[in-house]
Amino acid sequence: MSLIVQKFGGSSVADNERIFNVANIITRAYNQGNDIVVVVSAQGDTTDELIEKAVSINPNASRREMDMLLSAGEQMSVALLAMAIEKLGYPVVSLLGWQAGFETTSTYSAARIKRIRTDRIKKELDKKNIVIVAGFQGINRFDDITTLGRGGSDTSAVAIAAAMKADLCQIYTDVEGVYTADPRKVPNAVKLEVISYDEMLELATLGAQVLNNRSVEMAKKYDIELEVLSSLKQSSGTIVKENTNMEKMLISGVAKDCNVARISIIGVPDRPGLAFKVFSLLARKDINVDIIIQSVGREGEKDIAFTVAAGKGDEAVRVLEEHRAVIGETARVIKDEDVAKISIVGAGMESHAGVASTMFEALYDAQINIQMITTSEIKVSVLIDKDDADRAVSAIHSKFFD
Ligand code: ADP
Ligand code: ASP
Ligand code: MG
Repeated sequence: MSLIVQKFGGSSVADNERIFNVANIITRAYNQGNDIVVVVSAQGDTTDELIEKAVSINPNASRREMDMLLSAGEQMSVALLAMAIEKLGYPVVSLLGWQAGFETTSTYSAARIKRIRTDRIKKELDKKNIVIVAGFQGINRFDDITTLGRGGSDTSAVAIAAAMKADLCQIYTDVEGVYTADPRKVPNAVKLEVISYDEMLELATLGAQVLNNRSVEMAKKYDIELEVLSSLKQSSGTIVKENTNMEKMLISGVAKDCNVARISIIGVPDRPGLAFKVFSLLARKDINVDIIIQSVGREGEKDIAFTVAAGKGDEAVRVLEEHRAVIGETARVIKDEDVAKISIVGAGMESHAGVASTMFEALYDAQINIQMITTSEIKVSVLIDKDDADRAVSAIHSKFFD
């Protein structure tokens, strides 16, 4: 007998037919004699709809009340899935985050799981119940409901698998695994049989939505092997694990992130300490900076440009405008949100020259201009015009995989 954690995303439980489809997957595993803990997301677009509803009442609602509202999406789906399993004649219990023992930090909308008190889940498993847990939510030290940030149910599932030392952690979704690019956008994307934690973490962080990056971080930390597979089609999925002796693929995937803003400060004083002062101002406001470029100095001035998450763009501009003493009276601060970050990820590029230039050649062939570039051992990212983003992904993907 094994303990299996299964996570089903929003599209997997979007309507009654899909709920019963999921109930069948769960009961099949249960019938094989396994203990089953299931984590579910809110149905379909429920979370987006709840956000719209909130905005229509108060666009500046507090994060506490947002979490109260958004957690309702998962409350509905756990109950409905449990009802479907009851109807199939199996013992089942649904639990909200706090009932399942999810204790989090107090940061509403972006809480982190501190620990899971697993007693309740264990008690239910001892009673031979299938346990259905609401993903994406927990409780903080004020006994308030918190949520983990968008896509957080993946992290809930991995956290349970780690806390309960599960034998298997399956992430069921609406595609058959992790592909070399978003299979909905790039029809000839290839499904990967296996991918390392590090590569998956980069892909997830750089925009491949299929797994939440924090879930991958946690899987790596606790050495939880993940299986990403389809809830709609029976086929082998993708294994995410620490792969030590596997042949390293040159490139394991291409990712796109449109949630980016570029901030340029034109004509700042070309003096020591400028970068330090600018970026510590931003850090103090918790604004994460990604790609940075700085021009060569000219006549005592230079330009600095950097990217931040789109939602932080206005705040970054405001902070800089408020600190003229740092950037100088005449510097211009410009924000551009019509940009996208396109990245290639692959452990193989560490030992192969020319990977970046192949990517740049693909962009040149497609006549797409590169605004910024950044690289690390296993990734290359470029910033380009947002309108070119899908074309760029296809062009780069074809260059490496066709
Ligand atoms: P869920 O609701 O199951 O959590 P998500 O919508 O969060 O599912 O993630 C699955 C989606 O991720 C897919 O439908 C696919 O369009 C997208 N995606 C982006 N990049 C990739 C990739 N490299 N491999 C697989 N899917 C990807
Ligand atoms: N329902 C939440 C969201 O839409 C959590 C999740 O789907 O993982 O972000
Ligand atoms: Mg998801």
